[in-house]
Amino acid sequence: MSKQKLGLNTICTHVGEIKDEQFKGAISPIYLSTSYEFDNVDVKRYPRYFNTPNQEFLAKKIAALEHTEAALIFASGMAAISHMFLAFLQNGDHIVVQNTLYGGTSNFIREEFHKYGIEFTFTNGYAVSDFEAAIQPNTKVIHFESPSNPLLTVTDIKAVADLAKSKGIISTIDNTFASPVNQNPIDFGIDIVMHSATKYLGGHSDILAGTVASSQEHIDRIWNVSKNLGGSLSDMTVWMLERSMKTLALRVKAQNKNARKLAKFLDKHEDIAKVYYPGLKSHPEHELAKTQMRDFGAMLSFELVEGIDAMAFQKQLHLIKSSMSLAGVESTMLLPSETSHALLTQEQRDAVGISNQLIRFSVGIETYKDLKSDIAQAINITKTISFA
Ligand code: PLP
Repeated sequence: MSKQKLGLNTICTHVGEIKDEQFKGAISPIYLSTSYEFDNVDVKRYPRYFNTPNQEFLAKKIAALEHTEAALIFASGMAAISHMFLAFLQNGDHIVVQNTLYGGTSNFIREEFHKYGIEFTFTNGYAVSDFEAAIQPNTKVIHFESPSNPLLTVTDIKAVADLAKSKGIISTIDNTFASPVNQNPIDFGIDIVMHSATKYLGGHSDILAGTVASSQEHIDRIWNVSKNLGGSLSDMTVWMLERSMKTLALRVKAQNKNARKLAKFLDKHEDIAKVYYPGLKSHPEHELAKTQMRDFGAMLSFELVEGIDAMAFQKQLHLIKSSMSLAGVESTMLLPSETSHALLTQEQRDAVGISNQLIRFSVGIETYKDLKSDIAQAINITKTISFA
């Protein structure tokens, strides 16, 4: 049966499941062994080698979802990113990275790369010309996110992939915000796709994990580094991730739908100054997003009008939780100025467009009218308090 021909929900449910030959159970058994027979076997298995039965089988699901030949599963998104970078960069090499990356990735680059003698340039913006301008003769990797965090900018994936290919550079993307349900960067020529599986792939805010998907050749190269560094995911969590991913497409599609409606609701609301969501016609890259995303995702950001304090608003929400992470089935909000961008000065935040009124919204699967009512009542009560 060809995996490419299977529908998304079938891939989520069945690809990469381990058949329970012994008891004929309906779901994959968990193999927790850290010790396997070494004599007369095809594969010498050990959890740090990413080749226990559960690791190997779940990697097939990730690869099928991202349209790649192979994948690896890590103990966190940061393990996936750091091992991916270290596989393709060495002393004297240079990487071009987008200016608005996830904070942990930026920190890894800024705080660790000098120890390895790896040079880096953060772009001035997110257009392909910004990436081109940052390329040096020793550039080996271009890394970016689309849509980005927290302003949901959209970069032309094919243009970046083409640029990288024309110069013999490896292109890598963090596809966490879109999820493979909404976007497959490999189809546009990107070499390697990574995820913080802690987010949509896990989807229930109870798993820390990361994935990398690519050609077998690239995955072998990453594996050669990763087996030395450690950082594979425990089989218990691999099993939980497999179970969670059976509903990935169902969850994400429900989240997309809620997000589309909420973005429109917020956009029309008189107390909302601005909404950042690629699905809105007013989004500067809406047309581009349509060409590379199947749907626009469930992350959006918005700014309250001056006078309605964002922090006070958050405190009035009953259903939507204030929470640091994202992409769970439950809706959450956070203030980037108090969390991911808290260490920047006000001036630095202004320069990257992160105002104190900006709220990042990870839309869950709850009933739309309940989410809408929660926001509406929180705005009303905050207004009453602010203008009393
Ligand atoms: N990439 C993005 C876009 C993220 O939001 C995060 C975490 O928030 C990461 C990578 C890092 O993943 P993890 O926390 O699983 O290490």
